[in-house]
Amino acid sequence: MRRLLLFLVGVMMGSCVGAQTAPQAFREWKAGTRVSLKAVQEYGLERCFGSSEIPESVYRRMRGKSFKEGTAVKLADLRYVRVLHYDGGGHILLGELVCHRLIATDLVEIFRTLFDARYPIERMVLIDDFNADDELSMRANNTSAFCYRAVAGSGKLSAHARGMAVDINPLYNPYYKDRKDGTREVRPSTAARYCDRRKPFPYKLTRGDLCHRLFLQHGFQWGGSWRSCKDFQHFEK
Ligand SMILES: [Zn+2]
Repeated sequence: MRRLLLFLVGVMMGSCVGAQTAPQAFREWKAGTRVSLKAVQEYGLERCFGSSEIPESVYRRMRGKSFKEGTAVKLADLRYVRVLHYDGGGHILLGELVCHRLIATDLVEIFRTLFDARYPIERMVLIDDFNADDELSMRANNTSAFCYRAVAGSGKLSAHARGMAVDINPLYNPYYKDRKDGTREVRPSTAARYCDRRKPFPYKLTRGDLCHRLFLQHGFQWGGSWRSCKDFQHFEK
């Protein structure tokens, strides 16, 4: 009986803790957490969209991964962006990005409009959660922006290294380049089937869709309209 009582008290306390989990997830902004619309309304929709200087806790996640010594951009020029997004199943998730301060306001506005329209974005957590490994982040269909890296296969710094580029739903919107020997390089390597843009599939970004229009309105270029290669996930300023 005593055990049963303790068990019941435990269950009740557990449910109290459960009720507190949502605001805590908002306060700590645990990106990737699913939240209900009611929880968003209680916390305040407007508070869920914004940017700030890089908080210490975020810097600790980035250090030695996406942010290395000698990066092309100063930490003070980067911003931590918080947004909400819907996934393809209609769930609301907490999202986060690191980008250059020059595009932080653009990204907050763009992702707010995408949220209001329920434009599906599967995942948006820092690339540091994938050890700053772009291939792994892309395979997980993770939307991300800043990462200090060279353009693959060259010594040139990518626009991501300055925090001036964003990759949207990258698994379904891959990068590819046809080599002279007739072979095709695809990134992520698991996305070959999504290079055929005539087929319908979820999370496909197309010319003229809301995401494409918003980024262009904000002065970004789209990698999907490049000639020498295609980078359907990529917008840069
Ligand atoms: Zn990119």
